[in-house]
Amino acid sequence: MGRWIIKYIKYLLDCILSIVYCGEYKCTVCGAYVEEINICDECRKKIKFCKDIIRIERANSEIICYSVSYYSNIMAKLILRLKYKSDFACADIIGSFMVKVIEENAIKFEGVTFVPMTKKAVKKRGYNQSRILAKVISEKLHVELIDCLGKVKETKDQIGLDGESRWKNLSSSFKIKNPNIILNKNILIIDDVITTGATSYYCAQEILNNGAKKVSVLTAAKTSI
Ligand SMILES: [Zn+2]
Repeated sequence: MGRWIIKYIKYLLDCILSIVYCGEYKCTVCGAYVEEINICDECRKKIKFCKDIIRIERANSEIICYSVSYYSNIMAKLILRLKYKSDFACADIIGSFMVKVIEENAIKFEGVTFVPMTKKAVKKRGYNQSRILAKVISEKLHVELIDCLGKVKETKDQIGLDGESRWKNLSSSFKIKNPNIILNKNILIIDDVITTGATSYYCAQEILNNGAKKVSVLTAAKTSI
């Protein structure tokens, strides 16, 4: 059994225990006792929330992206722990912040999907962190979780590549798996981090080219190259 499954079971047990002993929550970041959500006010204050709407314009089309925060301190810690330490409590915190952004910006959608990883990468990590975030949102807002994209091309690590190379590296990496489930729907794509927007753009284009009505993107954090 993979190490991530054990961590996932532990996370589910912690959730059950926190319901049984209500009021006994701990801040996931610093360990301080908190009343409701599992992050304390001090850690929350350190998050640099992002109010900007990012517009990715390319080849006469525009994709609108929202981001919870800038990629720094607490948010970076939460993302890295979700991504590399199978700490699923972090997904719940990030997901709650994402729901707040959806509500504040009145983002309308009928289905929530996520940026895919290659089958090989999912096998190696055990899970796709963006899918976990999309699942949290689908549960909190009672919208359908749609698994419609596949990553068909193994791409080089984006780190160290300049802007245009990142776009080239990702082109034709994403393919629709089942166009019927997105037909005429308004879709929200979830990702952990947005940098140039190339990933978001190609995923959104693939969904739009296969019959979706509208696509928006929401990420946990925004970073620069
Ligand atoms: Zn804290």
